[in-house]
Amino acid sequence: MSDYADTAAKRFQSAIAEMQKRVGALFVTLRDLPADEIMVQLQALDVRATITGLLEPELARLQASYAAGLELIAPSGVVSGEVLEGLVRMEMQVYVDRIGTTAVELQRLIAQSAIAGMSEADFAASVLKTGMQPYQANALANESLRKYQRVVKDQIAQSAPPDKLYIYEGPNDDKTDDYCLEMLAAGPLTYEQIESQFPGTFTAGGHFNCRHSWEPSVRSDQDKRAA
Ligand SMILES: [Zn+2]
Repeated sequence: MSDYADTAAKRFQSAIAEMQKRVGALFVTLRDLPADEIMVQLQALDVRATITGLLEPELARLQASYAAGLELIAPSGVVSGEVLEGLVRMEMQVYVDRIGTTAVELQRLIAQSAIAGMSEADFAASVLKTGMQPYQANALANESLRKYQRVVKDQIAQSAPPDKLYIYEGPNDDKTDDYCLEMLAAGPLTYEQIESQFPGTFTAGGHFNCRHSWEPSVRSDQDKRAA
């Protein structure tokens, strides 16, 4: 799982880096123009659409990594293809929205820096501070992938027998928060018990960027086989 979140985060970061490089080139073409001409050109160029277009191949690769990760958790046929496609599309929108926000920030930065006659080196340094830092890209990819996998597991759980047991799994260390500790200590529970005692956690985990999820309890499967 973490391999895959790492891959997704790296793809997303390389997409952002590519975008910053292109913005640097754009800045050079605008810098020596009069201020009003800079504004006219920037407005004529839909930076957001241009950047989203540039990033499409990266997003397609990112999307493929979601589809591949899914095979690990959902045996084919358990969740409908349409549901899965819809889930991946929603997750991709998270990235597109973040890229769009970054594009707007960059557009403003280009306008201000070009009008102020900033040097290419100073502009490049400012660009690195906008957008998404590596740790933020990691957190976003982690959260998105984990949430996506939890939603798929939730779909599977909803069509499982009501007596099936789940156990809260994930690290127990100094970063684990109190709510997650409580669920880790709760032991095996049915889906209905989880929904009443810890509502919403099957799909959301305990909090943003949570490393935990409800997993089918292996013991309950063994008990059933013995019975
Ligand atoms: Zn957690």
